[in-house]
Amino acid sequence: MMCIKQIFSRTHRLKVGQVFGAAFTSSRCFHGEQQVSRESSALPIIHHSRYVCDLPPNHRFPMGKFPRVLHFLIKDQVITEEQVWVPEIASKELLSCVHTEEYLNDFFNGKINEQEQRRTGFPWSEGIVRRCRYETGGTVLAAEVALQRGLACSTAGGTHHAFPSYGSGYCLLNDLAVAAKYLMGVSSHKRKILIVDLDVHQGDGTAFIFKEEPCVFTFSVHCGKNFPHRKQQSDLDISLDDGMEDKEYLSTVETHLPLLLETFRPDLVLYDAGVDPHWEDELGRLRLTDQGLYQRDLYVMKTVVSRGVPVAAVIGGGYSRDNDKLALRHSILHRAATQVWRDCGM
Ligand SMILES: [Zn+2]
Repeated sequence: MMCIKQIFSRTHRLKVGQVFGAAFTSSRCFHGEQQVSRESSALPIIHHSRYVCDLPPNHRFPMGKFPRVLHFLIKDQVITEEQVWVPEIASKELLSCVHTEEYLNDFFNGKINEQEQRRTGFPWSEGIVRRCRYETGGTVLAAEVALQRGLACSTAGGTHHAFPSYGSGYCLLNDLAVAAKYLMGVSSHKRKILIVDLDVHQGDGTAFIFKEEPCVFTFSVHCGKNFPHRKQQSDLDISLDDGMEDKEYLSTVETHLPLLLETFRPDLVLYDAGVDPHWEDELGRLRLTDQGLYQRDLYVMKTVVSRGVPVAAVIGGGYSRDNDKLALRHSILHRAATQVWRDCGM
């Protein structure tokens, strides 16, 4: 299971403060258009007002949640506007590190047929193309900023069901895969990236994309009976039974994450903090509480950051007809990250 990917080894790591110090803040980011937060020393939050687009009335996907996540973070004084980094739209060139040219041309130009549109769950529109490109730009920027500052969170992202040549399950571009491929390739030594996918659904697209890539390790903890019914093979899949609650879930994550960090020794962790394992989620089948999600996010980020490894987090899936309730649930990630930022003296 970890065969090829675990044999890479790196020298022991410096303390958190040394790793994410001033030397890292001077590096340039390529995917931020207005980096209003350059002066802020607080947790970087990546957000774009174009993370949303119009959908037909009564569409099941909770598109309205994205701006509400930022709204609640500011309203509840978890963050200030100075902490917000604004991503650029992902170019076709950037996306082509994961997606096929044919798919990108069809997707950009509205040549996705009805059957393919049904598989994605979205009717094609120019708005949806733009939204997905900004969302992917946001995840790439979060990863770049995380490498400089140690931790960064987007207010979208986690579209892990998208494959190189087609979209699926509300995922049209695989932002995690694009960020991993891009960040893996731009350093003089090839960076090793661990994708920790705790969305309740398996990260099948991401698993497929990195099947043969030794520098990216895909770790997915998901509900076995949930979508996608035809699973791909991640480097480590943990399939959970329906109805699992906080305690057992947290102990599952705690069993595997430290071991993965020790054996694979990533240079960067991409964390998909989907809230669909929540008991009230309309598509999940697990029974986590708000407190359970908070403990999970705190544990994952603290465990990684305290080893001197940067983390870029995305919100992943979450489904409810109540947009505000859902946005608040997603904001658990940013609240936990704020706590980690403070506790680790970042
Ligand atoms: Zn999901």
